[in-house]
Amino acid sequence: MLVESTSKIRIKASIFGVVQGVGFRPFAYKLAKRYNLKGFIFNHSGGVELEVEGDKSSVFEFFIKLEAELPPLAKIENITKEQCPLKNYKDFEIIASVKSSTNTSIPADISICADCLAEMRDIKNRRYNYPFINCTNCGVRYSIINSLPYDRDKTSMKDFTMCKRCYDEYTNPNDRRYHAQPISCFDCGPKLSVLYKDATKEYDNVIDKIVLKIKEGACVAIKGVGGFHLVCDATNDVAIKKLRDAKQRATKPFAVMFDSLTAIKKVVDITDKESSLLLSLERPIVLADKKQTQSISFLVAPNIEKLGVFLPYTPIHILLLERLKSPIIATSANQSSEPIIKDEKEILQKLPFVDAILTYDRDIVHICDDSVVGVVDDREVFYRVARGYTPMSFYINSTKKILALGANQKSTITLAFDNTVVISPYIGDLNSISSVEYFVKVIDDFMNFYNFVPDIVVCDKHPNYESTLWAKEYKKKHNTVELIELQHHYAHSLSVMAEYNLFEKVLSFCFDGTGYGDDGVLWGCEVLLTSVDSYERVYHLKEFSLLGGEKAIKEPYRVALSLLFDIYSKDEILSMKNVVVEKFSKKEIETFYMMHTKGLNSPKTTSLGRMFDAIYAFMGEDSYINYEGESGLVLESYAKCCVLDEVYTFSIGKDGVISFDEMICEILKETDKTIIASKFINTIADMIVKISKQNKELPVILCGGVFQNLTLLKKVIQLFKNENIKYFIQQKTALNDGSISLGQAYYAINLQRNKNG
Ligand code: ZN
Ligand code: ZN
Ligand code: FE
Repeated sequence: MLVESTSKIRIKASIFGVVQGVGFRPFAYKLAKRYNLKGFIFNHSGGVELEVEGDKSSVFEFFIKLEAELPPLAKIENITKEQCPLKNYKDFEIIASVKSSTNTSIPADISICADCLAEMRDIKNRRYNYPFINCTNCGVRYSIINSLPYDRDKTSMKDFTMCKRCYDEYTNPNDRRYHAQPISCFDCGPKLSVLYKDATKEYDNVIDKIVLKIKEGACVAIKGVGGFHLVCDATNDVAIKKLRDAKQRATKPFAVMFDSLTAIKKVVDITDKESSLLLSLERPIVLADKKQTQSISFLVAPNIEKLGVFLPYTPIHILLLERLKSPIIATSANQSSEPIIKDEKEILQKLPFVDAILTYDRDIVHICDDSVVGVVDDREVFYRVARGYTPMSFYINSTKKILALGANQKSTITLAFDNTVVISPYIGDLNSISSVEYFVKVIDDFMNFYNFVPDIVVCDKHPNYESTLWAKEYKKKHNTVELIELQHHYAHSLSVMAEYNLFEKVLSFCFDGTGYGDDGVLWGCEVLLTSVDSYERVYHLKEFSLLGGEKAIKEPYRVALSLLFDIYSKDEILSMKNVVVEKFSKKEIETFYMMHTKGLNSPKTTSLGRMFDAIYAFMGEDSYINYEGESGLVLESYAKCCVLDEVYTFSIGKDGVISFDEMICEILKETDKTIIASKFINTIADMIVKISKQNKELPVILCGGVFQNLTLLKKVIQLFKNENIKYFIQQKTALNDGSISLGQAYYAINLQRNKNG
């Protein structure tokens, strides 16, 4: 509390948030000078400590402006102020950082700012067309940091000695580049080069050479912020076909980078919210609705209505697209289910179809993929939270050191300690040796950043998840650590509760591919009554079987057939004429029937994701699911052609079991794919609203990968608004398994809170 006694006061403030490495101290310095205040500011382990002394009204004004005029990358999560006796400071100073092993914020990598862009385009500026231009308000951060505190000698810029002119800027508090750690110029910074298949390297006219290659229809690799992109001309069918064949990626959509918002608007419909995301400093890939006619190749995102678009975010991308004047496919350079590649040698070894590599001589320390976001009801829905947004921190108090390991797909980890919760960037699916190695590296890196040794480790209940195996191994080696195994869908719900700091009971719709259930069944359409310390499974989909286990995930006709087995006799099925039955020979049906009735290699599931796959099969679509989420995206594109409010029949038993049997019978009689898709999505929305209305006193949470179906999500939100139902969905963290680690951490934090009373 501030006491009004004299006209001069001294205030001590502790500030927590993203306040280091983002120009916060010079900003506060200039602000103090503006109001003629004395005192000091310094970085320490928990954030920033600041003292200002001077005229009372000026001090008040200072704190108002401190929050209102923050530098673009800074974010204040919490500020505490305390009035102290006067000290009569003579000046305002920036004091050197207290070297500490812990530090609350690792700044994320940010796109080039408007000031740097203007300089880069100014022929008179010494950084004209400089491909590594940056300042305190923009550029690389996380991807070049070896250890904390964030200083140049602890980044991969340490090998580049600043020239005199850069050093002068770096040390001048009034300069935009004051303490911009990656500061450099043509004289002292990294150099671009082009590397060819035969390992020869050239250093002149690099951008022009790559532009020429792309125009010729080649597939090239380009070193970006957190790894390499594979790039080719997005209007060239032959080039894209070559890329698809080489990557064995039949239909999975590619993201496209355009030189301007105007160019994007020619290809997709963009709302104001979407364009502000595209232009934001984080520069994510935005999933938008395709226009009817397309100037880019059909092969970029076949059979679906959505297209991932984004704008150049580094000076290199800008220089390239300015010259190319044509959109490019820019997809993470990797082998399937492996992490994004960050070293040029690995590109040569693993991706031999790449014709040329645009690279540079500064190491990428941490890989980081592009972030992916969609928009519903003017709010962000994240598919992947990585470059620009992560590492992400929340201000939540935790008495113990907690390490939460996430799930197996869309892996992330979360650390909680003191008053900080930090979420790692998206790691990927832990389906390959190299992705598991990378997962372990991220754990090591984050524990080292914060000098962190966990008291509690939280993992998923699934016994075979790589993250669970790691946790159990860690527990073996560190006996005193407490190990918590948390149910997957409960963790989904908790991740939303963490984002909104909820404690009270909520009704959570946790709809996804699969998660390990308490009864060993693969859950995935669960309605849970959740609070921070417990949950109860109140509704769920009727179990069905995955004929052939894992195989049924790739072959949706198996799932559709098993749904028929649950409703009809074998003879009835054999006499049926429909796309599902006709897919199989009589013998195959008999074998599957035997597997189904005897439960041989046919695990039970309640997964709504698999139900989407089955509907995709009933519509007569492709017999193979090429990528996760494909069935949902294809259903969306059919539903878009058919605006219906009708729903199929379903039932909810007294035991809370939701049955779609009647719906399946109705679908068998329908021949119009657009009607099936539309009515199925309506049915899910209707089911959610019916259950919510039965529990009207509870706020609702929607979570899990199924809600990445934006058509479904939009529908549900609209119905909730009509019915006045209070609901929460994630806005900062991923809707899918990418936020499981956050939910796990939130559980452990609250467990401590409750233990401590
Ligand atoms: Zn800048
Ligand atoms: Zn320089
Ligand atoms: Fe999940």
